[in-house]
Amino acid sequence: MTARELATLPKGHLHIHLEAAMRPTTLTRLAAERGVALPATTGFTDFRAFAEMYQGLLAVLSAPENLALLIDEAVADAAADGVVYIEFGVSPQYHAAAFGSVAAALDAHLAAARAAGQAHGVEVGLMVTVDRTLGAEAARELAGLAASRAGRGVVSLGLANEERGHPAAEFAEAFAIAKAAGLQSAPHAGELAGADSVREAIEALDADRILHGVRAIEDPELLLLLAERGICLDVCPTSNVLLAVVPDLSAHPLPQLLAAGVRCSINADDPILFGPGILDEYVVARERIGLTDAQLADCARSSIESTLASAATKERARAGIDAWLGKEGS
Ligand SMILES: [Zn+2]
Repeated sequence: MTARELATLPKGHLHIHLEAAMRPTTLTRLAAERGVALPATTGFTDFRAFAEMYQGLLAVLSAPENLALLIDEAVADAAADGVVYIEFGVSPQYHAAAFGSVAAALDAHLAAARAAGQAHGVEVGLMVTVDRTLGAEAARELAGLAASRAGRGVVSLGLANEERGHPAAEFAEAFAIAKAAGLQSAPHAGELAGADSVREAIEALDADRILHGVRAIEDPELLLLLAERGICLDVCPTSNVLLAVVPDLSAHPLPQLLAAGVRCSINADDPILFGPGILDEYVVARERIGLTDAQLADCARSSIESTLASAATKERARAGIDAWLGKEGS
């Protein structure tokens, strides 16, 4: 019996920062075209160095046409990995200079996402992502902009960058604006900070999903709460090892989280910086973390059901996942 092909398992990709979905070859080419030094993408040893590298990626994207290219290639790569729904974490505030305003930058993202989705047969949603280090007022403004595009391609409000020193509660108003507009609340938590940050994301931001959240494993009561509310953790195994959240893949808490009844999806976070794409992360989950095919299918189900993907996409994914699990090998 051969193993089931993970590429044919329909899946959602929910925790993927757009700029870091760039192909390495595209990064090299764009850097040469713009005459800027090739930004470093390896060798970071802590979150701060990692965050600086991310800024290097933005430098090569300063021409508007490059954004559409990036989105098109990232959606094409997702389709090849069996992704039927992708939710890019986007930061239009970083692209305001290239497009004239934050709103114009967001609209350019939306137009490119629609075109790429149609071209490659993948549903694309955007998670407008608040940068914790820019403060509460900038967060409110961005949330208002995201809310004005609810139902037009924006599906969630994210919260990223340094958790330490920038607690979730500072951003409660921004997330209330997003939730009132029908967007999902999807902050990062439980990565650099412990289980309390996950609890805070639930209490202060009414989180529907938590990006990472793996340190919830430190608090059994919190696991019960996550399971009871069906809050999905958008887990990124390789990222967790490279940023020293867990010591190695064999010690990753994903199996324990699933055993506790917590919904989890499997994701790549920042492929150009960490290496693996989403399909590779499913392979890692199977071969290094030891998930069974039933557990992998369960993660794929959560990666679709926990989102605002359309009913048609959910239906198609459900049938495809059942068929994948029903099949013994290929
Ligand atoms: Zn992330």
